Amino acid sequence: MPALRKLTPEPGFTLQEIPVPSIGPSDVLIRVEMAGVCGTDAHIYWWDKWAQNRIHPPLTIGHEFMGRVEAVGAAVKAVSVGERVSAEGHIACGVCLLCRTGEAHICEHVKIIGVDTDGCFATYIAMPEVNVWKLDPAIPDEFAAVFDPLGNAVHTVMAAGVSTKSVAIMGVGSIGLMAIPVARAAGAARVFAIDVNPSKLELASRVGADETFLGTDSNLVDEILKRTNGDGVDVLLEMSGSGAAIDKGLAMVRNGGRAALLGIPSEDININLAERIIFKGLTVLGINGRRMFETWYQTQALVKSGRVDLRAIITHVLPFEQFDRAFELMKSGEAAKIVLDLKGLSSEFLI
Ligand SMILES: [Zn+2]
Ligand SMILES: [Zn+2]
Repeated sequence: MPALRKLTPEPGFTLQEIPVPSIGPSDVLIRVEMAGVCGTDAHIYWWDKWAQNRIHPPLTIGHEFMGRVEAVGAAVKAVSVGERVSAEGHIACGVCLLCRTGEAHICEHVKIIGVDTDGCFATYIAMPEVNVWKLDPAIPDEFAAVFDPLGNAVHTVMAAGVSTKSVAIMGVGSIGLMAIPVARAAGAARVFAIDVNPSKLELASRVGADETFLGTDSNLVDEILKRTNGDGVDVLLEMSGSGAAIDKGLAMVRNGGRAALLGIPSEDININLAERIIFKGLTVLGINGRRMFETWYQTQALVKSGRVDLRAIITHVLPFEQFDRAFELMKSGEAAKIVLDLKGLSSEFLI
């Protein structure tokens, strides 16, 4: 089957012919139909510092997808051939302290598809049955392909608790943009979106932000305070991973407010903990992955209700072969979310 692979420690990917993965008794073989392109994939494509430390080529990339079940192992109970599915890309060990106490999303032994093991940018992927998510027929393919990042947004919003609250979203890349309709659907009273890219702010308004702000504006924190009675916002959703943005974000949260941090800084950052967190009595939450599988139920319910519509956020659906273009579009900042269509790929490789 064709698979998009990182073969050597340098920028770029190679479309390579590899064997269809074999499945164990508890595994499901899925024919991939659509796959989301993520910032993580871009790190691996451009071979930055993070990728150099984390990725061990050769590896098939990709972790956001939907498709159809092609085959199931002998012990698989709840999934059948032909079913339309997505899957949780974090494969938890199932037996550690965290897995056994309902915290599998932060399992110490987690393996992430497309990062630690072969991913979904291929005609087929094998997944453990417990990771497979059956899709409601009302969910469009393109939306189903990005349940992973949408689930990050849902997890962040739900953990922060936004009902009746004023919410600042710092960084509206694809997940920050997704967090806007999710926060609205979850009952946020006001949503402020902040980014350094004006085209992303335009999109943020289109998908439901009340007001948008340039992150480079030196009066940013004052402007937010002005709009919140001088108090600051109730909730910060940190989606940027930038040290300067995190500092400004924490500065605009009111005393006693909550900050949910999803964006990942690429290096150590400097924050005045006393001023920004301790004296203000903030509650700060680290958010990783999706709760298994509470977040998936929430995500499906939100999309099915029609209140979380990703049409404006998925700016490009490209044929799989145009993967290079996808990474260029992401780098230029032109694209929000890109989905690759694998349906037209290689029917001659059908097993
Ligand atoms: Zn992703
Ligand atoms: Zn575990």
